[in-house]
Amino acid sequence: MGEGAKPENERRKFRAIKGTRDILPPATDLWNWFEKTARGVMESYNFAEIRTPIFEETELFARSIGVETDVVNKEMYTFAVGEIQRQDSLEELVEAVESAWRDGAIERTGENEQHVSKIRDIYQAVRSGAGAATAITHQFGSGVIWSQINEINRLVGELSLKLTLRPEATASVCRAYIEHGMQMLPGNTKLYYIGPMFRRERPQKGRYRQFYQIGAEVLGTSDAPAIDAELIQMLTDLLERCQVEKYMLLINSIGCASCRPKYVELLRAELRKPEIFSKLGADSQRRVETNPLRVMDSKLPEEQPIIEKLPKISEHLCEECSAHFEKLKRELTLREVPFTESPRLVRGLDYYMRTTFEITSPILGAQNALCGGGRYDGLVEMLGGPKGIKGIGFALGEDRFIDAIVEAHKIHATRPLDIFIAWMGERAYPTAVRLAHVLRDEKHRVELPAGEMKFRKALERADKLGARYVLIIGDDEIASDMLTIKRLSDGVQEKISEEALVDFFRPPALAKEGPGS
Ligand code: AMP
Repeated sequence: MGEGAKPENERRKFRAIKGTRDILPPATDLWNWFEKTARGVMESYNFAEIRTPIFEETELFARSIGVETDVVNKEMYTFAVGEIQRQDSLEELVEAVESAWRDGAIERTGENEQHVSKIRDIYQAVRSGAGAATAITHQFGSGVIWSQINEINRLVGELSLKLTLRPEATASVCRAYIEHGMQMLPGNTKLYYIGPMFRRERPQKGRYRQFYQIGAEVLGTSDAPAIDAELIQMLTDLLERCQVEKYMLLINSIGCASCRPKYVELLRAELRKPEIFSKLGADSQRRVETNPLRVMDSKLPEEQPIIEKLPKISEHLCEECSAHFEKLKRELTLREVPFTESPRLVRGLDYYMRTTFEITSPILGAQNALCGGGRYDGLVEMLGGPKGIKGIGFALGEDRFIDAIVEAHKIHATRPLDIFIAWMGERAYPTAVRLAHVLRDEKHRVELPAGEMKFRKALERADKLGARYVLIIGDDEIASDMLTIKRLSDGVQEKISEEALVDFFRPPALAKEGPGS
């Protein structure tokens, strides 16, 4: 190969990874508008933002989303570079190792297995040497124990823990709630988040491997149906604010630990009947034993007539759950939020309780779910948090919400430029620089060309950039101390003094509102 020639593979073009995409201007303006609107709506309901890390211990997601789900089974981006967290005592450290090993959070390699077994052996030796002490780190009497403790720390440091890019954020929010003792805060804690999530799904329109969610969670001791209704109303407010009118809100109640198991048994018995079982697909047949509730949300067309006739959970709720559901419906009606009951909206995990809901939009095509949510009263406790903390939340798909806004308005995102400054001549340049700064201070979007342009070229460029006004500063303007402003929509041109400039561009001349404006 000749000097300077690069091998072929060094010259290849890079592309975004399958299932990920760049969101470019002007679309980013619409994204920013949407996020600002969503923040505004959520803050008006007194929700405050939480930002959690993008990766967490794999075990957090496995436990909260459920090992039987597609998300945990097939779709998580997991890598092994995490470390076991430091603990207050040796005993707790070894217990953390044992639990991570049991749960599979530590990668099952031969080397890790040897390390874990050595840690166990040394710990046993330390314990027998130090008597039955519990707070072993404080028993520094002998040099032998010191070196054994150091050896355990070294081995623990070499164990690599599995981490996962978050496929959703509810688990992280609950983890943070517990970690920071937020149950001590007055009333229910209302948190929202905005950010990317990662799932290794088969990419298609509306389904990505890195996608964005906006979600909100209410955590606390109360599970009043008004909380559920207000959370749902917040979503319909957002849809309204975005002027997306074509959507459907589906609601259901999936009961609680006392009534759901009885219903599940009833459902299983029904599904086992040979005339029904034989008509089910392979996945549903398997789920009759593992998780019959999930047969309800099957999308297979040939199973639909069977599902229609299955017993509905809403008809088998206990008194409390039934009262909760009735109250929810009254609360929604009071708020003038239209809803449709859907017995098929189920969740397969034990900690989900009572209210579930989904918002779909017919303008979206195959991936029509805009948003999903529900109560998860048992989750905080299951993640090691205090007893009796209830929770409800939703997550909306930002990618799909944006598609719905674009569809509803038939808008093409544009990037409006407020003012293009056409300056001509050395003498005009300092004035152009100064006025650009003045107008930017006023929050206008201003383009100041870095080099001098001929008048006609400058106008052409301003037009192509979609500018609303051109501020013209040439020799004449400098000599007369008057500026020229040209409105591009109709070509109307007028002269104004520099003092009048700021007032001229104040709204309504440059009003800014609404998606795509
Ligand atoms: P889930 O956490 O699965 O209930 O999803 C909540 C919402 O996130 C869905 O209703 C979708 O709008 C959106 N969503 C889920 N998965 C994806 C994905 N792979 N790509 C784009 N949006 C998604």
